Amino acid sequence: LCSSKSYYRSLSLFLFLRSVVFSRFCSPCDIKELFCTATGLSRNTTISLLDSTGELFQNVLTQVAEQFSRAFKINELKTEVTNRLAMLEKRVELEGMKVVEIEKCRSDIKKLREEMASRNNSFLDDNKKLTPRRDVPSYPKYMLSQQTIDALRKPTFDVWLWESNEMLSCLEHMYHDLGLVKDFNINPITLKRWLLCIHDNYRNNPFHNFRHCFCVTQMMYSMICLCNLQEKFTQVDILILMTAAVCHDLDHPGYNNTYQINARTELAVRYNDISPLENHHCAVAFQIFSQSDCNIFANFDPEAFKQIRQGTITLILATDMARHGEILDSFKQKVDNFDFTNEEHVTCLKMVLIKCCDISNEVRPMEVAEPWVDCLLEEYFMQSDREKVEGLPVAPFMDREKVTKPTAQIGFIKFVLIPMFETVMKLFPQIEEVMVQPLRESRDRYEELKQIDDAMNEVSTGLRHPSVPESTTKS
Ligand SMILES: [Zn+2]
Repeated sequence: LCSSKSYYRSLSLFLFLRSVVFSRFCSPCDIKELFCTATGLSRNTTISLLDSTGELFQNVLTQVAEQFSRAFKINELKTEVTNRLAMLEKRVELEGMKVVEIEKCRSDIKKLREEMASRNNSFLDDNKKLTPRRDVPSYPKYMLSQQTIDALRKPTFDVWLWESNEMLSCLEHMYHDLGLVKDFNINPITLKRWLLCIHDNYRNNPFHNFRHCFCVTQMMYSMICLCNLQEKFTQVDILILMTAAVCHDLDHPGYNNTYQINARTELAVRYNDISPLENHHCAVAFQIFSQSDCNIFANFDPEAFKQIRQGTITLILATDMARHGEILDSFKQKVDNFDFTNEEHVTCLKMVLIKCCDISNEVRPMEVAEPWVDCLLEEYFMQSDREKVEGLPVAPFMDREKVTKPTAQIGFIKFVLIPMFETVMKLFPQIEEVMVQPLRESRDRYEELKQIDDAMNEVSTGLRHPSVPESTTKS
């Protein structure tokens, strides 16, 4: 059982193995050592292991050991992969939590928005909406086409084609085009911010909204162009006319003065039932000017500001239709001997001009004008429905049971619009073709529509109450 350097002897050893357990780190050398120890041979003995069939066992053992090692490595890999999978699963779970959190945030934001919107509807919250939403106005700089610029000067301009941003750009253009920005050294960025703030302070009423503000101002611009008012008026007057038009319905709540007074709203109480809405529009306008970043009059000296303020207040207060007769009568007394150097005359004309623009929808082409009637009736019906619920008096012209589009328009065009525009026509004959003629056509069209309505009513009434005696039909 020994080997020596001098002579070689081959030794056969028979091992009967029941089971061998190798550790995962077991290498062929370890196995050899194990044999050497078990058999008492020295460690440097060359050992050839043969199995019972005489095949070399060594390689098999090596392979077994390697496979074991590989198997362990695979297990290790498996463990690692399992761990990583678990980690990923955990992360997915966490991301899932984030999704839930985002959803929660979204619903919170929505709730806040709704709350803010409902608060915006409440009256006389002095701090509301006066600050522009954005610091630097971010509405895109629209390059108005020459076609748009030309169309903007006419009462035929289609006011329904434009988004708010575009209307803002058009208003901005008017201030530049009339030379107001240059002549009064208005900061062009302040002009943008002011207009944006104006936009934000109109409510989304069916009728008294920012588009109505745009219409009135665009009609004023058209009249300034058509009647060459820049030749007759000072630039201060032009600035007052335009600014009063822009501001004239600010923060209109969608319910008229009659409602305010009958419902004894905060506005009616604040202004003692005297033109509550118009006083409010005006007050909001000057609250906006009191913010330096929206004050287009910042460069004016105090005297000039006083004049602009007084002029603007007078014009906005003149838009109360309760004062229609009084103002038109005063103008009629002056118009035959009108004197453009007389301040009282000029003020009265400016009041009539803003009144004309405020109710000028029917001057526009039929396709542009007609949707406004639907908007106005929607706002009227909203009011009369509320008045019925609150037990307040309901005006027949607002009652959905009594009014139709033709009946709403005919009287207004015949007895309010045409007489007023015909009076202005005495001073500016050029408005007859462009403004008065469309009013006459609109009146005729609505009279025709009314005849059709009446005929239809007769037919349906006839059907409900047949003239043939009942006894005859029954037999
Ligand atoms: Zn208005």
